[in-house]
This record gives sequence, C-alpha cells and structure tokens, in this order.
Amino acid sequence: MALPFAVIGVNAIDALYIVAFILLVYGMTGLTGPRTAVRGNKIAAVGMAIAVIATLLRGHEFHGSGTWELILLGVAIGTAIGVPAARNVRMTAMPQMVAIFNGVGGGAVALIAWVEYRHGFVPSGAHVAAAGAYPLRVEIFELFGAIVGSVSFWGSNIAFGKLQEILPGRPIKLPGASQPVLNLGLLVIAVASAVILCAGTHSQALFILGILVAAAVLGNMVVLPIGGADMPVVISLLNAFTGLSAAATGVALGNTVMIVAGMIVGASGTILTNLMAKAMNRSVPAIVAGGFGGAVAAPAGAGPGGEGGTVRSTTAQDVAIQLSYARQVVIAPGYGMAVAQAQHAVRELERALEAKGVEVKFAIHPVAGRMPGHMNVLLAEADVPYELLREMDEINPEFPRTDVTLVIGANDVTNPAAQDQPGSPIYGMPILEVNKSGAVVVLKRSMASGFAGIDNPLFYDPKTSMLFGDAKASVSEIAAEVQAL
Ligand code: NDP
Repeated sequence: MALPFAVIGVNAIDALYIVAFILLVYGMTGLTGPRTAVRGNKIAAVGMAIAVIATLLRGHEFHGSGTWELILLGVAIGTAIGVPAARNVRMTAMPQMVAIFNGVGGGAVALIAWVEYRHGFVPSGAHVAAAGAYPLRVEIFELFGAIVGSVSFWGSNIAFGKLQEILPGRPIKLPGASQPVLNLGLLVIAVASAVILCAGTHSQALFILGILVAAAVLGNMVVLPIGGADMPVVISLLNAFTGLSAAATGVALGNTVMIVAGMIVGASGTILTNLMAKAMNRSVPAIVAGGFGGAVAAPAGAGPGGEGGTVRSTTAQDVAIQLSYARQVVIAPGYGMAVAQAQHAVRELERALEAKGVEVKFAIHPVAGRMPGHMNVLLAEADVPYELLREMDEINPEFPRTDVTLVIGANDVTNPAAQDQPGSPIYGMPILEVNKSGAVVVLKRSMASGFAGIDNPLFYDPKTSMLFGDAKASVSEIAAEVQAL
C-alpha cells in the first residue's frame, strides 16, 4: 500500500513535533501534584499521539510495500494488549506494569538497532559504513541504544517477575565475587562487539546478535541479585536506561521526537532514581555493580510470643478511646491500606478525630506501598487535604510529641531494624520513626512480614498494640466508635 502522506512538508512535520514537545513538557508540569496529575497525563498523552502521527507522516522513512499494513497491525496489537492491561491493573500492581511497559520500550529500541543493521546489511559481506550507508557517529548511537535497550528490556522482565511473585523476591546471586566479574565480562563482550562493528567487519549479523545476547544476559544478571525491597530504585533506573537508549536511537535515526521524549524519560528517571536511592539509603553505583540488597532476608515474622517477644493485641473500641483523647495523632499508611482500599475509611476517621479537636497528620514514606507516590495518590483520591500530608523528613522530628501513631498496613517503612540491626537487609533505609511516639497502634491482619520478608521489632515494642483484621474494616470500626464517643 502506498503512503498517502508521503509528500507532506517537512516544515509541517517539524511544527507538529514542536506542538508535541510543548504538550509533553506542559503535561509533565501537571505531574508535580496529585490534583493536576490526571490532567497533566492526558495532555502529555495527546502530545505523544501527535508525535506518533507526525512520525508516521514522515513518509520517506518507510520502505517497501506492506509497511502501512504492518504499522496498523502493530498499533492494533499494542492497543489490544495495552488498553485492557492499563484499565484492569490493580493500583497495587502498578509498579510491575510500569516495569513491563518500560521494558518493552527498551526492547523496541534494541529491535530497531537490530532491524537497522539487518536493513543496512550488505549480503556480499562489505561493511555498510564502508559502503557509505552508516557514518560512524550513527553506528555509535545505534549500538549504544542496542546495548542499553536490551539491558533495560531483560532487567525490567526480571523486575516484573519479582514484583508479580513469579520469581522469588529474595536476591538470587552467584557465589562469592563471581557476580560482579560476570557482569563486567558481559559488559566488555557487548562493548567490544560494538567496537568491532564500528571498526568494520564481515560478520555484522553475528556481532549485532552478540551485542544483544550479551546485553540480555547482563540485564538478567544485574537485576536477579537485587532484593525485592529494592525494586523501586531498580525500576526507576531501568526507566532512565530506556529513555537514554531511545534518545540515542533518535540521534541515530535523526528522529527528533525520540530524542526529546527519550531525554525527558532519561533525565526524570535519573532524578527519581537518585531521590529514591537517597530515601532508601542506597548508592546508585552499588546497584549497577550488583551488590545491592545482597543480604538474604531473615525469616518472616515470629508469631505472638515467639522469637520476637510478646505482642499486645487491642480492640477498635480501645483504639477509639486512645485516639479521641490524644492531642496529636499521626497516621502512617502503607501497602496494606492500598490492598484493603481503606483510604476513604481513613478520611472518615480523620474527619471524626478533627471534629473532636484532635490534630491529625499523615506520615508519608517515599517508598510506602508499591510505587513512588502510592500513598499520595490514594489519599488524594479520598480527598484527604494535601496540607495534612507530611514527608518523612518533616514528620520524623514530630513523633516524640505525637500521642498516638496509627500504622495502617505499613510494615517495612516503620521497621526499626533499619536503624539498629546492621545485619538486616533493610539496614540503612530511612524509616518513619513511629516508635518514638507516645503509643503506636498497628493495623494489619496477622504477624506476617511485609515486602522485605523480615520480622518487625516494632510489633513487640511495649508501647505498641496490634489491631488485627482487614484495614478497611478496622478503620471503619474505629471511626464509628470515635463518632459514638
Ligand atoms: P509492607 O509491604 O512492608 O507491609 C504491608 C503490610 O500490610 C503487610 O505486613 C501486611 O500484613 C499488611 N496488609 C496487607 N493487606 C492488608 C489488609 N487488607 N489489611 C490490613 N493490612 C494488610 O508495606 P510498606 O508500605 O510498609 O513498605 C513498602 C515495601 O514495599 C518496602 O519494602 C518497599 O521497599 C517496597 N516497595 C516499594 C515500592 C514503592 O515504590 N513504593 C515498589 C516496590 C516495593 P498482613 O498480611 O499481616 O495483613
């Protein structure tokens, strides 16, 4: 089928690209707050749609017959998979969806490099660069994209598998120091193959495959040794990788929209990685070296009266009395609040307490839940006033003057082992210091561990009491009791 728009002017396409960039950047500014995020997302999506259409209108990019049919088939398959996946995903499963969607981007970049090489491949064995098809600067960007995109695709698959619990969340690593040596070896193979390709070789097909396979194994090997609790940083890092690989391929293909969108993703992913690494007290170079989250998780939660000590359980009625007579109550939500979808009940409780003159604040840990901003999104959905939300650094000094902290489905982000047990897998991760408040009430269903799979000494602290049950039911019950008092 012939291209209907093959003759559209270059200026018109550039104008469309400029409109697309403006919408992308403007849309992203909306992502700075939960209230404007949905609108920002929609604006950026329109920008991306315009960019895709503009690219399709660059008719001279497409060669051969059947191109449009293939593009339409690709769009149909992508839509058939993407739309239901995005619509049906549970909020708590969002990180793995981000991981897999991001990974597909990296994979697409790697495939483009492969296709471009096959496209430029001269069957006689003559090197394409020598034949004038590929200048060296194009090859360098193309191969950079191939390596980084392939690492990102395979690494993201592993991250998806760990978060989806298809793979074990614990670190899986080779014995001794062999892991970093292997990783370095794979990187050297990929880079050396790229250098050989750039220098000119008769075996292009072999070396481009060598690059993609070495980078694929590297992607797997870098992420497998990382513990599940460290996955947020990894996903963010791989996200940045995908952006950089897309930008590099954009340079190679002369596609401005890939450069701009790729750099936005690369830059924002890098900033987010740094912020999250800081929030979890990890170093980014240690992630890349594969020595990240290396400790094996301790056995999950000892039962009441078990290894961890004695646990005190309480009732909704007692908690309601405790909260109603407090001056300041801090609510520390976590993954369990998301699972229970308790945010609306939490808002009701907050209102009931404020009606009694109790000051209520929310303590937001940067990695509470299963994705950055998870708690902010849920609480915004329930109309909890943004002014009541406090970041970790802001709320930690307030715990000593807090009468009661209500921990709702949070576990790892409140675990004092991160501060006082050097052998703990989460040692060094900054936590919400809820144990410094006058009293702590933990709402969860059992003594089971959280995402990191480790015991939480907070539950055995003499000033902690546990209210066992589903968070939504428990919070609703407490709210009703507070209103009845
Ligand atoms: P955790 O995963 O540590 O703990 C959640 C707790 O919620 C569990 O102990 C569980 O206990 C309880 N729970 C589950 N369902 C319910 C329910 N229906 N009602 C009441 N309680 C429930 O969560 P945190 O938020 O404290 O910590 C987040 C963890 O996830 C960290 O380790 C972080 O590194 C990791 N992570 C964070 C990401 C992010 O970007 N935010 C992404 C990926 C991982 P029980 O079963 O007994 O009810």
